[in-house]
Amino acid sequence: MYTANRAEEVKLLKNLWTSQPTTCPKCGGAELEHLHKKAKKSNTRWKCPACGEIYRTIGMLKSLPKE
Ligand SMILES: [Zn+2]
Repeated sequence: MYTANRAEEVKLLKNLWTSQPTTCPKCGGAELEHLHKKAKKSNTRWKCPACGEIYRTIGMLKSLPKE
C-alpha cells in the first residue's frame, strides 16, 4: 500500500490505469511516468522520476486489503 487506506489506493490505481496525471503518493515530488516510455500500450508499470519508486499496478491490486 502506498496510501493511507483502501479507498485511496483504489483511486490511485484507477488514476494510473486511465493515465491521469498522478502525483507520487510516496514523496509528492513529481508526477508518475510510464516505466517503459516506448511501450505506451502498457500502463501497468509506473515510476516516480523524483524518488525512483516503481509502481506495479497488478501487484498493488493483489495486495489490496479485503473490504
Ligand atoms: Zn516519488
